[in-house]
Formats: sequence, C-alpha cells, structure tokens
Amino acid sequence: MNFYKQLFFSKSTPDFSFLPSPSPNTSDENHQDHARKLAGKLLLRDEIVLPDHELQLLLDEHNIQKIKSIASYFNGKRHHCRRCGNSAQHLFASIPCMRCDTTHIYCRNCIEMGRVMACTALYFWTGPEPVYQEQEDPCAWEGELTPTQTKAATEIEKTITKSNEELLVWAVCGAGKTEMLFPGITTAIKQGKRICLATPRADVVRELLPRFQLAFPNTTTAALYGGVEDKQPDAQFIIATTHQLLRYAHAFDVIIIDEVDAFPFHADPSLPYVAERSAKPNATTIYLTATPRKALKNDPNNKNSELSLFPFAFMVSHYLFLNYNLLSRCKRHFKLTSYQVLFGNGSSNVRILLDKY
Ligand SMILES: [Zn+2]
Ligand SMILES: [Zn+2]
Repeated sequence: MNFYKQLFFSKSTPDFSFLPSPSPNTSDENHQDHARKLAGKLLLRDEIVLPDHELQLLLDEHNIQKIKSIASYFNGKRHHCRRCGNSAQHLFASIPCMRCDTTHIYCRNCIEMGRVMACTALYFWTGPEPVYQEQEDPCAWEGELTPTQTKAATEIEKTITKSNEELLVWAVCGAGKTEMLFPGITTAIKQGKRICLATPRADVVRELLPRFQLAFPNTTTAALYGGVEDKQPDAQFIIATTHQLLRYAHAFDVIIIDEVDAFPFHADPSLPYVAERSAKPNATTIYLTATPRKALKNDPNNKNSELSLFPFAFMVSHYLFLNYNLLSRCKRHFKLTSYQVLFGNGSSNVRILLDKY
C-alpha cells in the first residue's frame, strides 16, 4: 500500500476481493454502450435503468455479476457492509423482509443512498472495459499557468502518466489548483483513462462542472452530488462529492481527492473506503490539500508510527509537493528530526520539518 493511504486505514487495508474479476469471454464490441454506463459501478437493482429481461441477459452472459451486499462472519454475529465499508456493529439493525418472509440485517450507515439488506444484491459489471473516444487535443483552455503553477502541473502530469503512484499537492486557497490539473487531465484523456475528481462539498462540484466542461468540451463529464440524478451515466470524467463514490468500484484510472484534510474524510471511515474502492487497483491518486497539518489533528489514531512521518511543513511560498516515495527514502537514509528540502528556485523554496519518530 502506498504511503499516504496508510494514513486513512488505521487497522488494515480494505479487502476488495469480493469484487469479481472481468469475465474473459466478453470482448464483444456490441456491449460498449452498456460498458460505458455500467462499468466500475456497484449498483442496486433500481439504480440500473434496464428492463428485467435485458438485465437477466447480461447476468446470464456474466457481463454483470451479483454480489452479496453484507458479509457476515462468526456465525452471523458480525457484519461488514461492502457498499459503504461499515464494520461498526451498532450501525447494523434488523427488520422483517416482505420478500423473504424473514428478518434481515441491514446497514444503517448507508441508508440515505437506499437501504441494503442481507438479501439485497449489488450488481457489478464484469464485461468488456469501456473505451472512450480518442482525442488528440482535448483541452480547449487557452489561459496560461504561472511558472510556479507550471511546476505543480508538471508534477501532477508526470504522476498521472504512471500507474499506482500517489502525490500530495499542497496549494493554498486561490492558488489556481483547478487550472493546475488541466495538463494532467489532458494527458489522462489522451490515454483514454477514466478520471474522478472527488471533493467533500456539493457546491464545489456545481462550481467545477462548467469550468471543466469549457476546458474539455468533447469529454463526457458528469457532476454527482446528493439529490441529483446521474445525467451522464457514460461519463469518462466524473466530478463528485466523495459520498457518491459509494456507487463505484474499480472504476477510475486517476482519482483526484480534493481537500483531503477536510474533516469528513478523516472522521467518516466510509469515505476513504469508497474512495479506495472506486479506484482501479493500479490507479494513480492525487491528493489536494490546503491545510495538511489538519490530517494529524483530526485523525483519532495519531499515535500510529506512520503518522509521525507526516511532515510538519512551513510554507514560505505557494506550493509544496511531497512525493512520499522520496520521503520514505529520506527516512531510511537520515534519522530525521528535521530536514530541509529546497524545492524550485530561490523564490519558491520550501522548508519541511519532519517530526521525530
Ligand atoms: Zn429478504
Ligand atoms: Zn452500508
């Protein structure tokens, strides 16, 4: 597991082995329309806009598979909701099920997004991968980045071209972080990758959608937040509140998590769970933060030794980029109590002071 992710999972890495692998018999081009709408989603029956007979056909062909929504262990005494990641037992309750004529466990944690009971199936696409329209020059934005923004944008772009990488970008408010993402997103689109930008707030989703639609006019882009229907179910680029990732699994090649140090991401264990699950196993993750030190303050498990590696950073310029592989190497080579990293030219030096461990 990558370094930064360890901060979000205090006990153990989430296990997503319940997600079936893609079926090898389904390279059928005719299924592209379904693939673009359903791949990477983990849905309830009524969230799939298909008549029963069409859905049954996809199930018979193993293009869609059903997954048990709640896994139970220890003779049914402990439960885990695979949709939201809830393992807190007090957030499970029982109600009678009309369909099965018995009493079932259901998850109270994710009930706002539709109730999942022990007999409720989640539907997961295992057919062909979606293929998106090739674009030579997807970005229509004609603005210019400042030299410092360019440096950030280049780091982001370099990370996005690789797989299974992570990068934390610290950009103060008003630093123009949206524009800094454009080159990286351009590269991802050119490579036919699927991208998600997750942010804690619905108003930010609403504000970002038209800006990205203007910048990438030929890329299908969807905005998802509570209370709106998915108007672009086949979108290549998704801007969503983090909660909406509850409906995704192994969907994105690139996931950008905005305001990663905002309170809910640390306070609600479902959010890192669904963010991790919505990314493909080899996805690249970009974390954006304006206030990295909050990660320490908010995390209830801040006695973990991993956390002591989290840098106390004193920003003397606008941006700080921390490649955590680099930091891990630093840790190996120096018994760090304090360490200076000079980044960029004289005007954008950044001093990083690593905590004792
Ligand atoms: Zn039932
Ligand atoms: Zn749940």
